[in-house]
Amino acid sequence: MKLDGILPFARQLLEKALSLGDFAVDATLGNGHDTLFLARLIGESGMVYGFDIQEEAVLNTQKRLEDQQLADRVTLFHKGHENIINCVPQSQHGRIKAAIFNLGYLPGGDKAIVTTPSTTISAIEQLLEIMAPEGIIVLVIYHGHQEGEIERDALLPFVKQLEQKDVHVLQYQFINQQNNPPFIIAIEKR
Ligand code: SAM
Repeated sequence: MKLDGILPFARQLLEKALSLGDFAVDATLGNGHDTLFLARLIGESGMVYGFDIQEEAVLNTQKRLEDQQLADRVTLFHKGHENIINCVPQSQHGRIKAAIFNLGYLPGGDKAIVTTPSTTISAIEQLLEIMAPEGIIVLVIYHGHQEGEIERDALLPFVKQLEQKDVHVLQYQFINQQNNPPFIIAIEKR
């Protein structure tokens, strides 16, 4: 297939948004795959701020980073992403160039612990305040499970009503695939 799959497309957006020395957010650590990807993009002079409500996710991510000797360019918070604005140092407000949310549950973990619309929306609002112009938020929405459908149905109307003068909002989705595969919403601050 020549068309980019969902996860490769998400990563391309992050690559476009980030350069060495930049600041980024991983809003849902999970097993730390995205954190590691961001840590490589921002280099040793940048910083990634990572969030997860599950200790298991924070520990998995810490281990993955240590294995690659990249832990010193990441600050991990065992906290929900709805605390982003209070956790990212004031000196970095206005300087965050990219953020990724991989929504849903921790793969291999407790499927009952999922991201929720109100906290996800609160985190997006906070990020829009502290991102740099042309900063990009990437949301990967998994709507193949019941809570994911609920989150999708709350997030789509929210992102659609964001003002065009403030943000560009993109939806990237395969529309003829079975079993509701994930899709992307990307929000670029103007
Ligand atoms: N990006 C991860 C990776 O690369 O492995 C996968 C993330 S997983 C799909 C979703 C994660 O979101 C879970 O680990 C879950 O604990 C976390 N989560 C749920 N609610 C959250 C919240 N309010 N703030 C931060 N993380 C949350």
